[in-house]
Amino acid sequence: MKYPKVSNFIDGKLTSSSSEFLDVYSPLNGTIISQVPISSSKELDDAVSAARTAFHSWAKMPIKERVQIFFRYRTLLEDNIDELTNLLCEENGKTYSESKAEILKSMELTEFACSLPQLIAGEILEVSKGVECRIERFPVGVIASITPFNFPNMVPNWTIPNTLVLGNTMVMKPSEVVPLSAMRLADLLKEAGLPDGVFNIVHGQKEIVEAICDHPGIDGVTFVGSTKVAKIVYARATSNLKRAVCLGGAKNHLIVLPDANVEMTASNVAASMSGCAGQRCMAASAMVGVGAVDHIIEKLCDEARKIVPGKNLGSVISKEAKERIENYITEAEEQGAKILVDGRNAVVEGKENGYYVGPTVIDYVKPDMKIAKEEVFGPVLSIMRSETLDEALEIENSSQYGNAAAVFTQSGGASKYVAERASAGMIGVNIGVPVPREPFSFGGWNESKFGVGDITGKSSIEFLTKPKKITTKWNPESKTNWMS
Ligand code: NAD
Repeated sequence: MKYPKVSNFIDGKLTSSSSEFLDVYSPLNGTIISQVPISSSKELDDAVSAARTAFHSWAKMPIKERVQIFFRYRTLLEDNIDELTNLLCEENGKTYSESKAEILKSMELTEFACSLPQLIAGEILEVSKGVECRIERFPVGVIASITPFNFPNMVPNWTIPNTLVLGNTMVMKPSEVVPLSAMRLADLLKEAGLPDGVFNIVHGQKEIVEAICDHPGIDGVTFVGSTKVAKIVYARATSNLKRAVCLGGAKNHLIVLPDANVEMTASNVAASMSGCAGQRCMAASAMVGVGAVDHIIEKLCDEARKIVPGKNLGSVISKEAKERIENYITEAEEQGAKILVDGRNAVVEGKENGYYVGPTVIDYVKPDMKIAKEEVFGPVLSIMRSETLDEALEIENSSQYGNAAAVFTQSGGASKYVAERASAGMIGVNIGVPVPREPFSFGGWNESKFGVGDITGKSSIEFLTKPKKITTKWNPESKTNWMS
């Protein structure tokens, strides 16, 4: 194994008492690169207890001091960018440039967290003569963060900097498929000067996630992953009276009008559906062509053919994922859809055991086909046709998900029409991956997110703090009234 067995990270120390381990594969070539422990609930107890103990002094430290650690952490991410990038490529299968972009995004997220002291400065108002109301924000306590496989560095950093800068402590449960990047973040946080116990990692699967939802020492839960699990975690954590925000899966629709700029639309749609091998919750998964858009589809296929597995297209995460994606394509073909670009049976020379799927474009998909409704999570674009914009919106609106939607057009009126009517939390106009950058928050609608508020950007402040309303009167001579 290239890397030693992974340990938990509790109270600033690597600890491992598990006897059960899972293999960690590199999807680039199918080799086992490490092993990850299936932790026991006792180890979760230890992590929660360390986080609760650390909370007392961490929460009392002025935010201006806490933030200094995150200035250093951001510099450490930058100083170690090549190593973090290579590790990410190896455990997740992304290309080098996609992996590097993820670390750059982690730096941006940390920069935002460093601005939180400015954003949470309290509110104060004289509400009647001599009487003052002010609001101060306090940390919630111990927050658990459960993360998925597809962004091993960025998604942990969606929650780590904001949660900790705002005075909470954390127990993270990374995806067991990609545990290595999260462990490096623990090293860097320690190097940046984070006190022991403020950030902890406990590895495992379903059982640890369930134990997190039930644990009386945990005050809040953030989850990012599939809708199936997001629902379970949201229901279980909130039934145990914890606050929770749980982000789920997606099926993002791009609506393409005939007046769209051909080159830009073709390259944006191809990049959106194939970036990170289609394993992004923001990936274009379905395109709805309105009217005469064959000229755009033709150019889109040219663009898709330039995307080559092993060169500018990474692998998907596992053998099972490759099989699942290829089965979706085959089933759509059997049901009468037309495969314009076929990525099945992709083989990369020298990496024959890697899990590659080539870019795939499928035309004449019908809205009731499985591939049109379900999250495929691979570099596959299903094209549906509609006569009118309203018909296209009807298809988009009927999805159970609602993460992102985009429209490609030169018409301001048409773009406004779609932006108002699409049933999604993040909308793109001539943008295939409409990720809101900080300070804007990231989060979808419908079954792409459960809970109120978002876990990144400004909106996270509401989730990660408790407001205290303080009313004061120091002038005894002021009259007593109904407000006294
Ligand atoms: P997943 O739901 O399988 O796993 C996510 C986490 O939940 C992991 O830590 C895993 O160990 C744990 N888990 C898995 N099964 C569980 C169960 N039955 N009970 C309790 N915990 C369980 O997701 P994944 O395959 O790692 O990630 C891909 C999914 O994440 C896709 O659906 C993608 O759209 C979604 N995602 C969404 C967003 C978003 O912002 N909406 C961002 C990234 C990924």
